[in-house]
Amino acid sequence: MLKRIDLSRNYQNHKEEYLKAIEAVCEETAFSGGKFADKFDKEFAAYIGVKAASGVDNGTSALQLAMLALGIGEGDEVIVPANTYIASAWGPTYVGATPVFVDCTKDTWEIDPDRIEEKITGRTKAIIGVHLYGQPFDFDRVKEIADKHGLYIVEDCAQSHGAKYGGRMTGSLGDLGCFSFYPGKNLYAFGEAGSVVSDKEEYIEAIDTWKNQGCKVRYYHDVVGYNMRMEGIQGAVLSVSLQYLDEWTFLRRKIGQRYLEEIRNPLITMQAHPGNTEPVFHLFVIMAPEAERFVEYMAGRGIECHRHYPVPCHLQKAYAHLGYQRGDCPNAEYLAEHCVTLPMFPEMTPEEVGMVIEACNQYEGKG
Ligand SMILES: *Cc1c(COP(=O)(O)O)cnc(C)c1O
Repeated sequence: MLKRIDLSRNYQNHKEEYLKAIEAVCEETAFSGGKFADKFDKEFAAYIGVKAASGVDNGTSALQLAMLALGIGEGDEVIVPANTYIASAWGPTYVGATPVFVDCTKDTWEIDPDRIEEKITGRTKAIIGVHLYGQPFDFDRVKEIADKHGLYIVEDCAQSHGAKYGGRMTGSLGDLGCFSFYPGKNLYAFGEAGSVVSDKEEYIEAIDTWKNQGCKVRYYHDVVGYNMRMEGIQGAVLSVSLQYLDEWTFLRRKIGQRYLEEIRNPLITMQAHPGNTEPVFHLFVIMAPEAERFVEYMAGRGIECHRHYPVPCHLQKAYAHLGYQRGDCPNAEYLAEHCVTLPMFPEMTPEEVGMVIEACNQYEGKG
């Protein structure tokens, strides 16, 4: 069975470097925060092209900390796309704000700038834009709206490490960029980790305090903080992987390009990739009729597929109290019903890519 994603190939390719990095952390017992986490912060900020980064315990915390750094809390509203992984909405929710869901476009499947303004109220404080599947959203249009209404922009870059918009790195475009290094993301830790990046060092300093039990000086607690530090082992592993990220992105793009060019089944729709963007193909999502059956059909051909995501955020049970109805975000709902995620990871062989393409092209769509 060809897996949707197979991390073991990467581990085998770089095993010695990873184990050496982990050993160095053990030798120095720099387990929580500390020099290996700090070193990665510097390297990652330089990679994204921003002044500072703060390594944290996961991407969900990164989003929560971004909200705290911006002073967002009780009674505030934050615009979030309906088509995203649910954690994009947890950030504002955890700080007591309300996520306000906006539909995606029909072609890019990213937040629809034409649908944002109608959702802005006197309580709106920020827009969380998600570069979903590794495809940058329409930042310039979102920025225009944010500036007009005095809103912050937080980028959820959990799926877009190394992706560019107008030649600029995602994560460097808005006020703050939030990354996840969950295993399987384009850049990942050997466990849980995340980062918040920004050109505004005061935000990163605030996050360094929030994530560290509310202290700047040990045992002096300025705010009711959290324990959301990055582990040393994760920093050390990420420093190894960051050196290869561009190479892995190159390989993902080659696979993505082949899918885009060689999948020629009229039943299958693919995401649009506007010319001013350089996507990184975190997930290769297609739309197909009878998506569940498509997944079974692919499994029958020895190919594992998943579905990202079968329920859009506004219709999740967790947000039932917000009162959204089916039909509120029709494009996101249509996508949720039809989406299928094809195998995509840098170590796929050309034969495996060919096998996925052939199976897609032979799908007939009727049960
Ligand atoms: C993975 C992901 C997150 C959450 O990151 P974790 O590290 O799993 O907490 C947030 N947003 C998006 C879009 C993601 O894909």
